Amino acid sequence: MSDVNTQMVEQYRNNFLREVEENVEEGEWVKMCMQCGVCSGSCPFGPHWEHPPQEIFMMIRAGKRDEVLQSDSMWMCTSCYNCIVRCPRELPITHIMHGLAHYAKRLGIAPKNQPTYKFAELFWKNLSKTGRVNELKLSMGLYFKDGFAQGVKNGMAMQSVALGLVKAGRLNVMELFGGHKCKDQKGIQAMLKKAYEIERSRKAAKMAG
Ligand code: SF4
Ligand code: SF4
Repeated sequence: MSDVNTQMVEQYRNNFLREVEENVEEGEWVKMCMQCGVCSGSCPFGPHWEHPPQEIFMMIRAGKRDEVLQSDSMWMCTSCYNCIVRCPRELPITHIMHGLAHYAKRLGIAPKNQPTYKFAELFWKNLSKTGRVNELKLSMGLYFKDGFAQGVKNGMAMQSVALGLVKAGRLNVMELFGGHKCKDQKGIQAMLKKAYEIERSRKAAKMAG
């Protein structure tokens, strides 16, 4: 168990709802859920969820901390916003789902082999470096995420798609050696630094009051 996770378990012993309210984006909305099930019924994932949003909110209130934070359900959300537009209580469900996923990652207890977890991590590293996504490096990162041999297999399986993209001018192999990036690299890094600072002070203010 990571140090930060142990610390949170101690701090919020037996009060997972409060932990969510104070640490998860839009977590203060969870208590407003009236368990009508409209969100779960509207979600395109339907029966494929381990725990649909309505169930996740019920589990939070029931104090099922490990089951919620170690679930891969939040990582399945595609941000289609169907649930938000239909929720009679106007809960920002999508944000809460992503907030829970992010919080589980911060605590070091999110399911690491979950493909969306891996994709989100690769995407963010790729994007935040230059301000623009290098699609070729992102795809290569995904292909090789389970090791070199599996990466070669994945590449072979997708070679006709890759060739088609190259022919159509949608994929440039030279992207592997640098690739496109934003002109103002320093500006991007400064903007991200500022965003982290704002986020930190927002969290501190939330904790304080
Ligand atoms: S639609 Fe809204 S109120 Fe109904 S279960 Fe989902 S989150 Fe709760
Ligand atoms: S935003 Fe996420 S939780 Fe909401 S309906 Fe779409 S996939 Fe389901």
